[in-house]
Amino acid sequence: MTNTRPAPPPLEPVAPPCSICATETAVIDNSFQCDRCECSWPLDGIGIEDGDWDNPDTEQCRSVIQPFADAPARYDDIRAVNHRCYREHGHDLRHTNPDLSGTWSSDDPNVREIQEATR
Ligand SMILES: [Zn+2]
Ligand SMILES: [Zn+2]
Repeated sequence: MTNTRPAPPPLEPVAPPCSICATETAVIDNSFQCDRCECSWPLDGIGIEDGDWDNPDTEQCRSVIQPFADAPARYDDIRAVNHRCYREHGHDLRHTNPDLSGTWSSDDPNVREIQEATR
């Protein structure tokens, strides 16, 4: 019987949630990656650096939601708040924006589409 202890097993990196969709990111190739949003961040850039899109040349999705569009008229400033989806134009599934905790679908009554290309 030896008197040495086994080495502490390797650590599992804890990946922060995606800043757009809040899904846990994956650690791949020295970056945190979000498959759903198709973007990544450098491992050493947490809290400091913006991420990078996997396809930086794609146009931004044109879906815009105005969550409080139905609020009474006296809340004009709240009614005017709107959020544009951060994902790429033509994506599938639901729309998402970092300032909203949830996602939205294209048939939500408070949703409109920006018509012109904006890039
Ligand atoms: Zn994401
Ligand atoms: Zn979208």
